Amino acid sequence: MSAEIIDGKAFAADLRARVADYAATFAQAAGRKAGLAVVLVGEDPASKVYVASKGRATIECGMASFEHKLPADTAQEALIALIDQLNADPLVDGILVQLPLPGHLDEQAVVARIDPDKDVDGLTPISTGRLALGQPGLVPCTPLGSLMLLKDRLGSLSGLDAVVIGRSILVGKPMAQLLLAENCTVTIAHSRTRDLPAVVRRADIVVAAVGRPEMIKGSWLKPGCTVIDVGINRLPPEDGQTKGRLVGDVDFAEAVQVAAAVTPVPGGVGPMTIAVLLRNTVVAAHCNAGVALAAGAL
Ligand code: NDP
Repeated sequence: MSAEIIDGKAFAADLRARVADYAATFAQAAGRKAGLAVVLVGEDPASKVYVASKGRATIECGMASFEHKLPADTAQEALIALIDQLNADPLVDGILVQLPLPGHLDEQAVVARIDPDKDVDGLTPISTGRLALGQPGLVPCTPLGSLMLLKDRLGSLSGLDAVVIGRSILVGKPMAQLLLAENCTVTIAHSRTRDLPAVVRRADIVVAAVGRPEMIKGSWLKPGCTVIDVGINRLPPEDGQTKGRLVGDVDFAEAVQVAAAVTPVPGGVGPMTIAVLLRNTVVAAHCNAGVALAAGAL
């Protein structure tokens, strides 16, 4: 048996094209472009790359990108003042603070300051609460992108057994909430879970968000299950290479022998994250400007 490889890259490209259509309609109706502000504090090389690619993708979708780059020694008060300014700016529909912040800053307080209606990362306590209560709101991008891939492949998820491995605020917990809202029977596994292989083996849907290379083996999977691999791990370089290979949390070569469908790494969940960020921004823009969102698939 060889599983279907879920093409997150193609799905994300389609989603971005749909977002661009919605952004164009919004610009006509509102008389301005939807806008995303990204705040970067410090010089972390990976964060700089992420911020640059988010900015590029925003512009490609026909939205305005506002980048705020602050020095690594920025004081908490100055960062909070910037968030307040962006909260009040009518041209800004979404605010994303690139994490992690330098150690002297109180990350939770900064995120909590973001207006929940502009919280395109879905990480404020209000957004988290809305998700838990089943109220409309903005949802973290990676889990929402993972859910989109699942629904695209499986249709209704109602009644399916889902195991989410990982309980982070960013991925595991919101993923579990989203699956619960789709009427899955959800188990959240973590580092203290006993007999993880047995827990995983009963799942129709496995979402791995652990950060450990190829930890989940083919023998742990129920035949015919669907596997969403959120993990992004770089292996040590092999002979003659400067960079190691990127792998997920699932042993892909083994999983394709057992599962019905698997996301690859790279090219699975990864590309969905920015596409959903753009989706969240255009949705927030409609809500914030009081422009009705046209019916359709976003
Ligand atoms: P965190 O480190 O915040 O959380 C990891 C989770 O895995 C924790 O809940 C931890 O349990 C659990 N865990 C660790 N070891 C084990 C183990 N041996 N058995 C079972 N559970 C374990 O990571 P994130 O959620 O932020 O990210 C997870 C992965 O997803 C990473 O590889 C990250 O790079 C990737 N990622 C990918 C994104 C994308 O765009 N595709 C976006 C975000 C993340 P405990 O709580 O008990 O410590």
